[in-house]
Amino acid sequence: RFITFEGIDGAGKSSQIEYVVGLLRARGLHVVATREPGGTPLGEKLRELLLHEPMHLETEALLMFAARREHLAQLIEPALARGDWVVCDRFSDATWAYQGGGRGLDRDKFAQLEQWVHGHLQPDLTLLFDLPHSVAQGRIAAQARGLDRFEQERADFHERVRDAYLERAVAAPQRMHVVDANQTPADIRKELEQTIANICS
Ligand code: C5P
Repeated sequence: RFITFEGIDGAGKSSQIEYVVGLLRARGLHVVATREPGGTPLGEKLRELLLHEPMHLETEALLMFAARREHLAQLIEPALARGDWVVCDRFSDATWAYQGGGRGLDRDKFAQLEQWVHGHLQPDLTLLFDLPHSVAQGRIAAQARGLDRFEQERADFHERVRDAYLERAVAAPQRMHVVDANQTPADIRKELEQTIANICS
């Protein structure tokens, strides 16, 4: 089974991924936890470039898909073929939201690239952590760390990313589960426990 995590920066994805991986492992499942862009040696090099190197907007989108192709071939597909569970921090929904919603690129082109790169494979479940940008920004500021190219974007960019994610969730209600990331951590964990129990049953 293939589970992906999505949401704007500062939505608290990372700690919830750790929690979900723990829930799955506690059930005796073998889990591969990975991230995009990244997950392979080449993918991690592309991640470095994508996060810090200025580039043309279409180059950015194409590199995201190139990193994804490598990730699928080297890590995700072999793991799923072995019967492992794969938990991935971001996947094609992020390209839809960031490069489509945020950057304003033509999403029809992404549909074609998606078909090419992984037409045969979609996540079984996508957990979308949703919250207003203003709250997410406060959390990022509290971490007092360096910001990547995307995190440095203005508030309207992040609001467009959020809207694009929510639109995508409306279009794929079977696959995408929206989690209100503004709840208390305990309530979020409760919701995740329920969702994981459902997908495991
Ligand atoms: O989730 P994480 O912080 O690891 O993602 C790295 C950065 O790459 C994020 O700032 C995210 O906005 C960006 N990204 C993107 N498009 C994707 C995947 C990630 O803009 N398709």
